[in-house]
Amino acid sequence: MDLGISGKRALVCASSKGLGRGCAMALAEAGVNLVLNARGAEALEATAQEIRDTYDVEVTAVPADITSEEGRAEVLEAAGALDILVTNAGGPPPGVWSDWDREDFIKALDANMLTPIALMKAQLPGMMDRGWGRVVNITSASVRSPIPILGLSNSARAGLTGYVAGTARQVARYGVNINNLLPGSHDTDRIRSMTEATAKREGIAFEEAAKKRDAANPTGRIGTAEEFGQTCAFMCSVHAGFMVGQNILLDGGAFNSTV
Ligand code: NAP
Repeated sequence: MDLGISGKRALVCASSKGLGRGCAMALAEAGVNLVLNARGAEALEATAQEIRDTYDVEVTAVPADITSEEGRAEVLEAAGALDILVTNAGGPPPGVWSDWDREDFIKALDANMLTPIALMKAQLPGMMDRGWGRVVNITSASVRSPIPILGLSNSARAGLTGYVAGTARQVARYGVNINNLLPGSHDTDRIRSMTEATAKREGIAFEEAAKKRDAANPTGRIGTAEEFGQTCAFMCSVHAGFMVGQNILLDGGAFNSTV
């Protein structure tokens, strides 16, 4: 399918690895010029070079912490006027409800709620003036169904979801579509470290923990960054113009519900 976005310009935050990288790859395949970001310069440049070598698109790599004000300013300056914005950052650490103090919440809110909001505030006016734009926020399946050990994530992402629900409906008439993409378990470094923690907690081998994790999903496996990226690219396409303020759950059917 021609996504109709060849030649457009996108910023994909936190994209040297994992789900962000999957989104960057799929957008590059659709002909989109990219600005990529992550803190670690080496892995970021490696991903940028792989994309340049594979697809005929321009790629700018900006090593910076997207959750800091200075980092965001650097990335936004390099990005300039964008057609497509994919927000993403590392997730907050696990724990239990009684562990977290005000400072922990402020950090989580900064990273997973206020950072995407700041990026949208910076880019939405230009998109609205130009009459076209797409924003996809990578959030989490925890928005639909809380993950007990990820209370900080559950809280921050719920706040972002509320902001998007209202804002998406205010900008849609200008040709700008904002939606959220909610990953269930996908094969990335983050899920590998969570599985390692489960294996340690339960005193079992990593392979056994991974097998149990996969078996718990209706598909018998976890998702891939490629599948995730292709879904994101569709949400950024010309075909997604009537998708507004939605929360697209990509979890292999793990969330058990009829509608
Ligand atoms: P990942 O494999 O650990 O990759 C994270 C990427 O983000 C890396 O490129 C990392 O590079 C970059 N990054 C992290 N913090 C950053 C920051 N402050 N500024 C700029 N770049 C940053 O993680 P993932 O699995 O793709 O997860 C992406 C997001 O989806 C996370 O918020 C995670 O909580 C959420 N999520 C993932 C899953 C899953 O199954 N994978 C499920 C639900 C939700 P550097 O470390 O070099 O900065």
